[in-house]
Amino acid sequence: MRPVYLRAEMIYLDYAASAPLREEVIEAMTRCLGVDGHFANPSSDHGPGRASALLVEQARERFAALIGAKPQEIIWTSGATEANNLALLGAAEFYAGTGADGQRIAVAKTEHKSVLDPCRQLALRGWKLDWLPTDAQGLIETESFAGLLGEQTALASCMLVNNETGVIQDIPALAELAAERQVLLHVDAAQALGKLDLHCQRWNVPMMSFSAHKFGGPKGIGALYLRQRPPVKVRPLMFGGGQERGLRSGTLAVHQIVGLVRAAELAVAELERNLGHWQQLRQRLWRSLQDALPQCLLNGADERQSPHVLNVSFAGVDGEALRADLDGLAVSSGSACTSEHAEPSYVLRALGRDDALADASLRFSFGVQSTVEDIDGAAQQVIHSVRRLRALSPLWEDAA
Ligand code: PMP
Repeated sequence: MRPVYLRAEMIYLDYAASAPLREEVIEAMTRCLGVDGHFANPSSDHGPGRASALLVEQARERFAALIGAKPQEIIWTSGATEANNLALLGAAEFYAGTGADGQRIAVAKTEHKSVLDPCRQLALRGWKLDWLPTDAQGLIETESFAGLLGEQTALASCMLVNNETGVIQDIPALAELAAERQVLLHVDAAQALGKLDLHCQRWNVPMMSFSAHKFGGPKGIGALYLRQRPPVKVRPLMFGGGQERGLRSGTLAVHQIVGLVRAAELAVAELERNLGHWQQLRQRLWRSLQDALPQCLLNGADERQSPHVLNVSFAGVDGEALRADLDGLAVSSGSACTSEHAEPSYVLRALGRDDALADASLRFSFGVQSTVEDIDGAAQQVIHSVRRLRALSPLWEDAA
C-alpha cells in the first residue's frame, strides 16, 4: 500500500532519514497503550506491571536473537544517538575515568554526528582523536586501520552502513584487528538492520548501536548491544530508577520496545526480498540519471554498497537552487540530521568532493513502500531541474 503524504504528488525517497511504520507495527504498539493493554509501568510490583515487564523481556529475547546476541546484552535506549553516546562516553569513563591524558580514540570523518560529537567531547577531556583514513569511496582500509591503532588507543568507532552514501564497512575484519590490539570497537549500525545480515557475536563486536525508525519502527527507541563475554563495561550517562541494570535509568517505553521488535522481525524476515527490490530501484534511478545527464557522479562503493541508498552529485548546478526546485520530491541533501546547517555534506567532502559538488548532491533512499513509479517520477523531476539550472548557469556554459 502506498503511503499518503500531505500532497498527493509528493514522492518520498528519504527512508534512510525515517521510514513509516507498517500496519503490523502500529497494531502491536497500539495493543500496549489502552486500558486493555500493557500500559502499566514495567518496574511496578503488581500484576499489570509484571505483565509489562514480561513483554519487555520477551521483546529483548526476540531482538537479541535477530542480531546474534544474548538478551542480557541489550540495553534499550531512546535511539542510536543515545546508544552511540552511551557506548563512547560510557566506555571512555569506565575504562579511563575523566580527563584521561594520552588515551586515544580512532574514528573516521565520515561517521554520523552522534559519534563525532561525543568523540569531540572526549577530546575536551584530554583524549586524543586519530582520524581513520578512508578511500575515495569512504571505505576504511584494514591496513591503515591496523596502522593507526597504537599502544594508547583505547577506543575506536566505525559505522556499518554509511547513512549518506550507503557504503558498507568490513566490520568483521576491523573487529578482528581491534580485538588483536585490545581496542574496544563500537559499531554504529543505525542504518544496517534490515539492510544486511549482521551478527554481533560472530563478528566479535563489543558494542553496537541500533535505531528503530530506520527500519520501520517508531522514533524515540533504539538499543545498545554490550558484549558480555569478554565483558564490556560502560558508566551510565543518566541516573535515576536504575532500569536496564543501572545503565539507562528511565521508565521503559513498552509500546516503543514492542514496535521496535516487530519492525525488526519484519525487516529481517523480508531482507532478501527487499534487497532485490532496492537493487532494482537503485539501478533504474541511476541509469535514468546517467543516461539523461552528463557529469552526474556516484557517491558510493562499487561492491560494498547497500542498495537502499543512491547518492549522486550533479556538476554545474547550485545545491541550494536544486533543493528549492525539487519541491515535489522528499530526498536528503547531505544527512537530514545536519540539514539545518546550510553546509555542504562533511561526509562527501571527506570523500574528496569539492564544496560545490558536495552541496549539489542528493541522497535518494528507498524503503519497503518505494515503487518503480516513485523512481520514474523522481528521475523526471531531477532531470528537469538539473537541465533547467544548468541552462541558467554561466558556470555550466564554461564547463560544457
Ligand atoms: N547513526 C546513523 C548512521 C544514523 O543514520 C542516525 C540517524 N540519522 C543516527 C545515528 C541517529 O539515530 P537516532 O535518530 O535514532 O538518534
